[in-house]
Amino acid sequence: MQTELLPVSRPAIDRAGQLIRQGALVAFPTETVYGLGANALDADAVRRIFEAKGRPGDNPLIAHISAVEQLASLIDCEPSLAARALMDACWPGPMTLIFPRSRAVPDAVTAGLDTVAVRLPAHPAARALIDAAQRPIAAPSANRSGRPSPTTARHVLEDMDGRIPLILDGGPCEVGLESTVIDVTGGVPRVLRPGGVTPERIAAICGGVQVDDAVMRPLKEGERPRSPGMKYRHYAPAGALTIVKGEERAVASAICRLYDEALGQGKRPLILALNTHLPAYGARRALSLGSDAGEMAHEIFARLRDADALGADALFSEAVGTEGVGLAVMNRLGRAAAFHIVEVK
Ligand code: AMP
Ligand code: MG
Repeated sequence: MQTELLPVSRPAIDRAGQLIRQGALVAFPTETVYGLGANALDADAVRRIFEAKGRPGDNPLIAHISAVEQLASLIDCEPSLAARALMDACWPGPMTLIFPRSRAVPDAVTAGLDTVAVRLPAHPAARALIDAAQRPIAAPSANRSGRPSPTTARHVLEDMDGRIPLILDGGPCEVGLESTVIDVTGGVPRVLRPGGVTPERIAAICGGVQVDDAVMRPLKEGERPRSPGMKYRHYAPAGALTIVKGEERAVASAICRLYDEALGQGKRPLILALNTHLPAYGARRALSLGSDAGEMAHEIFARLRDADALGADALFSEAVGTEGVGLAVMNRLGRAAAFHIVEVK
């Protein structure tokens, strides 16, 4: 199959909408990462997403809508007060809510769960595509399963060339990390996957929040997480990643030592560090993660792809604090490192 890459335009969106209606896959930009979309109400089309990504069938997808009214066709009860408050405050935006599902949603989307994940994205091209398709669009991130999520159309092409007919190019994604996934089926909203909408913000909107404890630790043997995606080693670069956490100067000297050891063992090490810390690493090979947690969110997946392209086989990354969007950054980085975190003083 030939993969076409078209800049976002009216004719490109119309063509993409037509492809979705015909049951084909289209990659498209959102404010979080690029999505790989199919008609959410067509089980065969949805199965093509799993094939193209090599995604395990037990990892459910997010259904994307362009207006709150479309929610009724996907869920089977009235949203709770907390859900309403979150929708009013954070939609359109980088937030996914988990609701009891309606029968209209194919099992392929929910991986057989009795709940469905729904998001109303803010990106104008994503919403125009959903409007053009005239259907909700089921879309996971547009990477091959296990690779870092794509934040540019070029990343999508790296992973999906020859597998899908069309990629819409809308430039780099604004947030750079996947949406915050929040379970609103119970009383207090529970964050299953952190993202751009932070626990602090959710607490301010709803008066309370729980963060699932699986967010910042590896899963136990045989554990079934509330968000099935947590089971998989996502976002992984090819090289082994170690995160070093602690006081700034101690971190820099520990990373220098680990880097030099790896070099001595004939490896090709690479450092990921905040911009302002780069001088501490001298002539060692280091890439910038930006200057704060927000920039890190934006840069992290692209830098993990760069690390692969450079053939790095031992990666050492600085940590950030888990306040605000820092929690989402550390969740992705932690999982990429299989939670191999070294603490120094
Ligand atoms: P991705 O498409 O890579 O953004 O992945 C979608 C994420 O949403 C995965 O981590 C899923 O586990 C999660 N998800 C989707 N549907 C549900 C659901 N019904 N319950 C809990 N988590 C879900
Ligand atoms: Mg993904």
